Amino acid sequence: MTHRILVIPGDGIGAEVMPHVLRVLETLDLELSFETGELGGVAIDKLGTPLPTPTLESARASDAVLLGAVGGPKWDDLPMEHRPEKGLLGLRAGLDAFANLRPAMLYAPLADASSLRPELVAGLDILIVRELTGGIYFGEPRGVENDNGRRRGFNTDEYTEDEIERIARVAFDLADKRKGRLTSVDKANVLEVTQLWRDVVTEVHADFPNIELDHLYVDNAAMQLVRAPKQFDVIVTGNLFGDILSDAAAMLTGSLGMLPSASLNAEGQGIYEPVHGSAPDIAGQNMANPLATILSAAMMLRYSLGEAEAANRVESAVNTVLEEGNRTADIMPAGGADGLRKVGTDAMADAVIAAL
Ligand code: NAD
Repeated sequence: MTHRILVIPGDGIGAEVMPHVLRVLETLDLELSFETGELGGVAIDKLGTPLPTPTLESARASDAVLLGAVGGPKWDDLPMEHRPEKGLLGLRAGLDAFANLRPAMLYAPLADASSLRPELVAGLDILIVRELTGGIYFGEPRGVENDNGRRRGFNTDEYTEDEIERIARVAFDLADKRKGRLTSVDKANVLEVTQLWRDVVTEVHADFPNIELDHLYVDNAAMQLVRAPKQFDVIVTGNLFGDILSDAAAMLTGSLGMLPSASLNAEGQGIYEPVHGSAPDIAGQNMANPLATILSAAMMLRYSLGEAEAANRVESAVNTVLEEGNRTADIMPAGGADGLRKVGTDAMADAVIAAL
């Protein structure tokens, strides 16, 4: 069966890296068909909107979307609803991609790049599952009101039982494919909505008796993440806590240029993209690390296309190129080091293809 992939290069280093990522995918000898779509700044310039209708229609008809990055200074002065990032939010909403998967994996050759001591992070392999389409980022009412001449700002944190249940099921399923441990993060001692979160996750646990479940308050989870991160396997949490914890966990691994992500819907369709943005400061200079997007493509193979073996091959090729000493500027220690070689975007991708 041919897998249909919508490729959205986007702006800045997104557009620069994507052709290399496609070269990597083509090396795998799988039945893949690629269509290209426009989103973000490039779509604003060509079609006057950050999310053209044909892009959304193609995304819906595809098995997966592989996305570079969107945005840049050229579009920063546009009103909020016309900005490139609106295209990305619209795409996620249009596909109902409610489950955001953010792995924090530390490749052994990069253990020195972490802000924590190497022994605390060597071999780190955590998966954070963040609810992406609900919670306080979307709750109504929201706004800033004038209250007798003084301003009052307010937001609403809300989750329905169904929203919690569907993200919990995704997280239990993923834990089942990994080490079998799930940590649910909430603030049930203060926020009622997260007491409901804790209750529903506990109820869903009845369907996954082989998974070890525990609950942590978010403040403790933040502390544990930087104290002893290897205790975690899969973490599931709401939109706001997940936003913060996933960035903290990401930094345990040292570099933005290494971090992939996935956003899945109930049908298993997903948007796969690096965590980093369009990096206008280095765009067009053959300096971008392509590994985050290559690893996003590996997640796509595993989670939307059912090609786990190919995903493993890509991930182990990435480990090989790092072991060989290939480093883009972002993962090169200041002052260099013996056995390490500074490479550009194209040479890093070439090394991955050679390793495959
Ligand atoms: P950024 O992630 O683009 O860059 C932050 C820093 O990290 C920069 O110094 C950049 O050079 C570096 N960097 C990022 N990715 C790298 C890579 N692959 N290799 C080497 N170095 C890398 O974040 P920013 O500068 O805050 O944002 C730039 C633009 O990207 C903005 O318009 C922002 O809105 C947009 N953005 C888009 C996304 C997305 O498309 N998902 C995410 C974040 C930011």
